[in-house]
Amino acid sequence: MGFNGQFFLKIIEWTDNMIVKEWCMYCGECAGVCPRNLIEVREISLNFNEKNCKECEICIQVCPVKALEKRDD
Ligand code: SF4
Ligand code: SF4
Repeated sequence: MGFNGQFFLKIIEWTDNMIVKEWCMYCGECAGVCPRNLIEVREISLNFNEKNCKECEICIQVCPVKALEKRDD
């Protein structure tokens, strides 16, 4: 059942170029590897300081559930 039947609001801020899939589990792996420390993982949100992102994609590569994706368009 999961989450005891409760619904959680996800608040995700990301760049125009990056998206976060709904199955993100907020494990913090991506935040831990960002060389610029731009990702802040909270209990039910993933906040991202997009101004300084160099789009190295390290965060995408380390996500264990492939929840980060670069937008092509
Ligand atoms: S590593 Fe993946 S699952 Fe973990 S917080 Fe980042 S995007 Fe979410
Ligand atoms: S792409 Fe690189 S600089 Fe941008 S948030 Fe991910 S790890 Fe940080």
